[in-house]
Amino acid sequence: MSSSHAPKELALESAEFRMRQAGEWLGLEDGLIETIIAPRRILEVSIPFRRDDGTRDHLVGWRVHHNTTRGPAKGGIRYHPGVTRDEVVALAIGMSLKTAIMNLPLGGAKGGIAIDPKTLTTGELERITRRYVSELIPFLGPDKDVPAPDVGTNAQVMAWVLDQYSASVGHIVPGVVTGKPIELGGSLGRESATGRGAVEAAALAGEIIGLPLNGAKIAIQGYGQVGAWAARLANARGAKIVAVADVGGAIHNARGLDIAMIDRKMREGARSVTATECGEVLGKGTDGSANIFAVDCDILMPCALGDAVDEKIASQIKAKLVVEGANGPLTPKADDVLLERGIIVVPDVYANAGGVTCSYLEQCQNFAHLSWDEDEVNEKVISLMQSAFKRLHSFSVEQKMPYRLAASVLGVKTIADSHRMRGLHP
Ligand code: GLU
Repeated sequence: MSSSHAPKELALESAEFRMRQAGEWLGLEDGLIETIIAPRRILEVSIPFRRDDGTRDHLVGWRVHHNTTRGPAKGGIRYHPGVTRDEVVALAIGMSLKTAIMNLPLGGAKGGIAIDPKTLTTGELERITRRYVSELIPFLGPDKDVPAPDVGTNAQVMAWVLDQYSASVGHIVPGVVTGKPIELGGSLGRESATGRGAVEAAALAGEIIGLPLNGAKIAIQGYGQVGAWAARLANARGAKIVAVADVGGAIHNARGLDIAMIDRKMREGARSVTATECGEVLGKGTDGSANIFAVDCDILMPCALGDAVDEKIASQIKAKLVVEGANGPLTPKADDVLLERGIIVVPDVYANAGGVTCSYLEQCQNFAHLSWDEDEVNEKVISLMQSAFKRLHSFSVEQKMPYRLAASVLGVKTIADSHRMRGLHP
């Protein structure tokens, strides 16, 4: 099916377009698709805070509960200068689909503040986070909405979220947030979970097209929490990481990059993969970074930000398989180009769902006062990824549709069924 009706390559338009396309395919009755597309609630908050130099400053933040029909709203908090209200809504839509496709008893949410955490001191970040959370208190809670890390946030930020919320109710509530430090009830395996799930998705989809992970040449755009873990884990399973990129640029080695060396150099202070002296530098800065998309490889994993691959870039991709580790890296027009060129796309709403799956396992541990060892958590994440792939793949074969549309249809159908069973109140 062509997506040439997608009006513009903006995150929210793409997300709504893909949901609507699924709704049309399902022939949903009675305007149900409008209920499903519209966010349940959006909270915009003003965040006054004190800078380290004593001056007062103000920010705007959002938290979006997209779908809450199947369970509490679930999704990360993003700190990035490009965050907008519409982008947060789009990301929340993605979370509703992810939890439905993975069959987790959760809804979809997202939050964000337009800040560059790298330009703020730890104290400023803590004050911003605490004030943001205190404005969100009526929205949050283990049965209402459970934040997690996303781009620009981490376990430390989640510890502040937990503390601010817990202080407001008078006792510690570990289940209000996931991706928190292990010492506060976080789960082993959470940091690597999104990358682990994405590598498993690549392995499963690769198997179908006769492309085993062992020996495959992989290019990974983004070397943050998702990309770096994907590189390590794919490498450990025998794949050759021929190129990696971050905001500083892209590096390449056709015989395979030394991932352990890149990690060591980054730990020692290299600010970009281009400063690690590993591989050949393909280009510097964000423009140079985009050179990774045309690299000769079998599997391409975009693991950075949304809308990174448009139709022009899609026409240069040499991979046979594209696995979306990031949220929304391909525009609908890029999807069309890849479909026409016979390149398989494993969509974000399945491919990067390892993170939220592990978040769900973290909550299970919190509610049962248990802590599982790392192997147990990793095995559960992999097993849930495998079951979801089986459903996605059989549906896509049965209905002769690409994984993207199959995933949207499965997600929207799961949500629609639960709306129908609950009924419309009042
Ligand atoms: N931010 C991650 C995502 O986009 C994780 C969300 C979560 O664990 O709730 O999937």
